[in-house]
Amino acid sequence: MPVPVAPVGDTPDRLSVERALRQAVADGLLGPDHPVAGFIDVQGVRESVDALHAAFTRVPDVLHTFAVKACSLVPVLRLLRETGMGCEVASPGELRLALDAGFAPGRIVLDAPAKTRAEIAEALARGVALNADNLDELDRIDALRPPGCASVLGLRVNPQVGGGTIGAMSTATRHSKFGVALGDPGVRERVVAAFARRPWLTRLHAHVGSQGCPLPLIAEGLAAAYRLAEEINERAGRRQVTSLDLGGGLPVNFADERTLPTYADYVAALDAAEPGLLAGRYRIVTEFGRSLLAKNGFVAALVEYVKDAGGRRVALTHAGAHIATRTVFMPEAWPLRASAYGPDGRAKRAPLLRQDVAGPCCFAGDVVAHARELPELAEGDLVVLHDTGAYYFSTHWAYNSLPRPAVYGCAESDGRVVFATVRRAQTLREISEESGLAHADALVEPPAGERPKHAVPKEQL
Ligand SMILES: *Cc1c(COP(=O)(O)O)cnc(C)c1O
Repeated sequence: MPVPVAPVGDTPDRLSVERALRQAVADGLLGPDHPVAGFIDVQGVRESVDALHAAFTRVPDVLHTFAVKACSLVPVLRLLRETGMGCEVASPGELRLALDAGFAPGRIVLDAPAKTRAEIAEALARGVALNADNLDELDRIDALRPPGCASVLGLRVNPQVGGGTIGAMSTATRHSKFGVALGDPGVRERVVAAFARRPWLTRLHAHVGSQGCPLPLIAEGLAAAYRLAEEINERAGRRQVTSLDLGGGLPVNFADERTLPTYADYVAALDAAEPGLLAGRYRIVTEFGRSLLAKNGFVAALVEYVKDAGGRRVALTHAGAHIATRTVFMPEAWPLRASAYGPDGRAKRAPLLRQDVAGPCCFAGDVVAHARELPELAEGDLVVLHDTGAYYFSTHWAYNSLPRPAVYGCAESDGRVVFATVRRAQTLREISEESGLAHADALVEPPAGERPKHAVPKEQL
């Protein structure tokens, strides 16, 4: 009987994962001393941005921003800036990354849900666009807006069109924490009045959700924002709202290689829901994250040991909850494709076996693939987690003080795969520094006079 082999599964137009792996092993980027790394297909990222621009070509005035939280790495942001994108940020740290990546303040949009007065003031002083999350935030902006402020200012509304298949990713539910709940009693009136009082308020923002939200639901929410803009302008008797910020959230297909839905599908869904939306009446801002990066990245991790437990094979690898946090905690919502490669990076052709692929974290649930049919893994093999270019290696969780993995960009050059360091792996020294090393004595040697009464005498320690 022929031995079944797992498909290697590279699309012809994407950089081959196998070729990248073989070169990474040959270059010493992966192996026993470097047991895990993230990889980004640079050309793939450029092509995804091209597809986004192409889908919107007939929209007269559009700024595509990249949601930094999807891949918060400065070299990636700079690459995206070079492709003509702007940047969406949701925290002071993300704003800092965007500025360090070289985005002009006028091409940055700040959407944080809990902005402090200082954060608002900084954005306004720099001319960063800002979407207020609620009406109280508008009052703060009233007080903080400097004369001649260059920031485009908007209000985020929640069209309350409902959720998708993943509750935590659905931002337009009835009780969502985001934006002004438009359908609640009296709220629409208050929003219209808030605009009437503030001529500088010229943008509406809505973000219906991300992974798990079907396109028609996303489109319905954005159409509601469009209709609200029309109403505000009609009541104001002039075109006060001049731009619509459409959130992001194109879902990614994690089941196989195909890019589905496409940006063209997104545009078609918006047209179907509201023909005026992209017709040029409003400047359009988009905020895509996952859909630009997910399929252009992967994680590779060494198999350190294999064992059997209760009749099941378990491969202990170096990719677990610290890199694939959502997948480990919500495996049904965030399943990942995994494939097996030998120590040299060649696709493994061993017979298939149902195996758990586990990570290095010290809790039992740290499993990235449950009972998965894969070529039988052995010590020294490599496991690849596909479609992990967004929210995985760039969104590390510090559990067990495991280091942030190295990340490399990869590209074809003269028929060979070449790598660029995007971020080196965190060192043990850096882990200690982040863990209070500079204050090592803070709890054992309080300043004179502050010594607590019942402190244990040093000699007894
Ligand atoms: C997270 C987020 C995005 C990006 O979502 P993706 O699903 O990664 O495309 C866009 N806009 C806002 C306001 C967000 O919070």
